[in-house]
Amino acid sequence: MNYNVNEKGYYGEFGGAFIPEMLYPNVEELRQNYLKVMAEPDFQNEFNQLLKDYVGRPSPLYFAKRLSEKYNTKIYLKREDLNHTGAHKINNTIGQILMAKRLGKTRIIAETGAGQHGVATATVCALMGLECIVYMGEIDIARQAPNVARMKMLGAKVVPALSGSRTLKDATNEAIRDWINNPVNTHYIIGSAIGPHPYPDMVTRFQAVISEEIKWQLKEQEGRENPDYVAACIGGGSNAAGTYYHFLHEDNVKIIAVEAAGLGVDSGESAATSVLGKEGIIHGCKTLLMQTNDGQITEPYSISAGLDYPGVGPMHAHLCKTGRAEFMSITDDEAMKAGLELCELEGIIPAIESSHALAIFSQKEFKPDDVVVMSLSGRGDKDLQNYIDYFKI
Ligand SMILES: *Cc1c(COP(=O)(O)O)cnc(C)c1O
Repeated sequence: MNYNVNEKGYYGEFGGAFIPEMLYPNVEELRQNYLKVMAEPDFQNEFNQLLKDYVGRPSPLYFAKRLSEKYNTKIYLKREDLNHTGAHKINNTIGQILMAKRLGKTRIIAETGAGQHGVATATVCALMGLECIVYMGEIDIARQAPNVARMKMLGAKVVPALSGSRTLKDATNEAIRDWINNPVNTHYIIGSAIGPHPYPDMVTRFQAVISEEIKWQLKEQEGRENPDYVAACIGGGSNAAGTYYHFLHEDNVKIIAVEAAGLGVDSGESAATSVLGKEGIIHGCKTLLMQTNDGQITEPYSISAGLDYPGVGPMHAHLCKTGRAEFMSITDDEAMKAGLELCELEGIIPAIESSHALAIFSQKEFKPDDVVVMSLSGRGDKDLQNYIDYFKI
């Protein structure tokens, strides 16, 4: 079984590029060039240098001793929370900004929900001196004020999406509209392992630095490259794709994907796509998607803005369908409890997205000598108000 993208842009039956004709030249230009550009030694050197000196990579692989003792297994945390800007998103935005420059683009657009991808994009545009426009739903602008302020300080223009539910999916629609109108000078930086081919594969390859590092770091600490499990939370699936990438075809490494169940899978307020989703098309690719019987996209819900997406990337749809990955759904309450537990046991305040992944230890039994590597995708600073409100701190 192949878990990577094939030359037609598919993971099994998922993926592809379902785009309006007017977008075809942009996407096709990218498709024809992305692998070639990424393979250039010049590109590699600049990418790796920036990951090292600007992002602060390699991120530590930290053996969480007290957490491991509590759950009687060996838990390693891949510390993406320690990256510049506080999450894994910057790995991808650095890669895509270098790609955009190689393709002669001078203007960058992005969509953002919680604002994490918007901040990472605004950051690399400032770094490279490129114009940056971030589309964001009007509702999200109101509820993610600190990130909006960050983007503005970094020189980005934040444009409110006023249509539909005025959240992430509407911001994405606005960004696509902009790209259609500006096909020559503009690159669209998608923030997760979603969108039309080649985006899911390109984003996955930029994030694959996560599992590349895990291999040598685990070898140093455990004497072997392969853990028994890799686990990560899934919004669109970029931190997960990066964490799994070099283990996809290692049969002895089990894969766990963690989705947000919101108030409960059957509550009508959920983002558990693997359970509730059916095959459909969203933002240019065929994947698993939460939708009504007549194909309207269902509004997802999660306490975590980064997991509040009605689909998953096509790679994850394939991993789900083939059974390569075990999908688990974690409720708001379970996640918040696990997040607080990490604070108390390890002195680390995780992003609420990452807290979902941490909650698997109270749901699933691991053996004492199992090595479980978990992606700690981001830090909790951005979620402080949420934690305060929830725990009445
Ligand atoms: C955006 C985000 C996610 C979800 O995005 P993926 O593409 O699924 O990784 C998870 N964790 C954090 C900290 C994020 O900012």
